[in-house]
Amino acid sequence: MSPMSSAPKQTTVGVTSKADPRDQMGRPLRDLRISLLDQCNFRCPYCMPVTEFHADYQFLTRQQRLSHDEIVRLASIAVELGVTKLRLTGGEPLLDKKVAELVSRLARIEGVDDLALTTNAMLLAPVAQKLADAGLHRVTISLDTLDSGIFRAMSGGRGDLATVMQGMEAAEWAGLSPLKINTVVQRGVNDHTVLDLLQHFRRSGHIVRLIEYMDVGNRNNWRSEEVVSSRESLQQIEARWPVRPVDPSYHGEVARRYEYVDGAGEIGFISSVTDPFCGSCSRARLSAEGMLYTCLFASVGTSLRDPLRNGADDEELAAILSRIWLHRNDRYSELRGPGEVLRPVRNKVEMYRVGG
Ligand code: SF4
Repeated sequence: MSPMSSAPKQTTVGVTSKADPRDQMGRPLRDLRISLLDQCNFRCPYCMPVTEFHADYQFLTRQQRLSHDEIVRLASIAVELGVTKLRLTGGEPLLDKKVAELVSRLARIEGVDDLALTTNAMLLAPVAQKLADAGLHRVTISLDTLDSGIFRAMSGGRGDLATVMQGMEAAEWAGLSPLKINTVVQRGVNDHTVLDLLQHFRRSGHIVRLIEYMDVGNRNNWRSEEVVSSRESLQQIEARWPVRPVDPSYHGEVARRYEYVDGAGEIGFISSVTDPFCGSCSRARLSAEGMLYTCLFASVGTSLRDPLRNGADDEELAAILSRIWLHRNDRYSELRGPGEVLRPVRNKVEMYRVGG
């Protein structure tokens, strides 16, 4: 088992009071998702279709991306404003070869209760122990099917299921469990393989969360007919294994929790389309180039990188972040009817830039 990071916790100087801003709906800022880079080793058609993200595609340069120093500084300021949960995402965060070093620095920020990372697990096996030793609390794995052919297709021909499973095993050995497994269910693509995936993880201690297919970004030609509602999935599951609801583990938890009556473990449903949860959404997203977005479906963000690089001090950056949050009134999923994409939201931020 891995020892937690023993270096002293750090706090941010200059930010005089723990402002704890509330947005227009009274929601606090508790959860910051940090995208380390806009690149990924997969080409999932609903996120980064290979036709567009081809070999010559111009991704952000290192200079354009926030440095680790800048990420730690902005994260520390966000914690002073109420954030207790940090999640590292991408693109694929494990493409950042120094991610473990960043983890150890973020783990030392006073007030971070939950430090997690979302990955497709393709690069996880060799670094799982290092991440755990650095202070990472847990990982969430994006895994849409255990059918190797469909998996290959859904990863744009880049994913290898055996390697992903090895990554998950290594994470478990490193103590980064229970693993949460995010499965986007798309009708006519992988919905017929969901029960097999659930069967595989029953009694594993890991938690599969079935995610309703969403109109994220602007490239997936989302159609509501392709959405398999959580209610429909639940009916299919109950026809095979009785389940019962479980209370949320904390306010604002995204997934609705259920457990198998026969004790085989827990599953979850993330129902942004048919049962939106904007009312308790306390999440902000920081893109790799330092743009802050207050909703997964936002079309406008605010740069924190530019004022930071133009010499703003921590108090000024905190004021900017606080002001953004105070003006926030996002509730896209609530406004989007179950059958319709919200018109006229154009140019939504792409998921690969802010993490799911
Ligand atoms: S749609 Fe936006 S406001 Fe609603 S839960 Fe998702 S991220 Fe939060």
